[in-house]
Amino acid sequence: MEGTIGVLGLQGAVREHIVSLSRLGVAARAVKKAEELDGLSGLILPGGESTAISLLAGGGLLARLREMGRTGFPFFGTCAGMILLAREIEGQEEAYIRAIDITVARNASGRQVHSFETVLSVDGIGDDVPAVFIRAPYITRMGPGVRPLARHEGAVVMAREGNVLVTSFHPELTDDLRIHRYFIEMVENYEREVRQ
Ligand code: GLN
Repeated sequence: MEGTIGVLGLQGAVREHIVSLSRLGVAARAVKKAEELDGLSGLILPGGESTAISLLAGGGLLARLREMGRTGFPFFGTCAGMILLAREIEGQEEAYIRAIDITVARNASGRQVHSFETVLSVDGIGDDVPAVFIRAPYITRMGPGVRPLARHEGAVVMAREGNVLVTSFHPELTDDLRIHRYFIEMVENYEREVRQ
């Protein structure tokens, strides 16, 4: 891939995503300000703490991301990143970027166990994908355009709508690069469409 993928670099597992992208031979850089979004082909929103990330981002950056979502720009949100991309958050009046028509419940997994690792069957990727969950959100509602891609104990934990991909878990904390590769393919298709 020719373009560069950004990783929202305010808080959380930023470096791990950059390492995963670099291992796949993709140029990647951290993004902290709206101006740094210029020229990117896609953006990863990492796990961490969604309230903290939203406060550090501030209204200007969130508004810019909302606008990019409306143009079909490729986003991949993991854990807190998925919360930031969701249209609705249970128990919260306001959502953030609202780029994917899902409702999420924060900290839905691991109320008893803070974190756990399991193996998931992911549509189109494989039935042996390792997944690390850390106080993870679950998807509790999906709009008609949203495709569920993986479940854990009945709950949807990975989904896609258009160019927006979300996971409840952290693929960047494993050595398995298949989910990042899947996102890169989404970005490549988007680049091809835009260039036409
Ligand atoms: N529980 C965190 C939140 O609500 C997400 C946890 C994570 O990203 N690992 O933002």
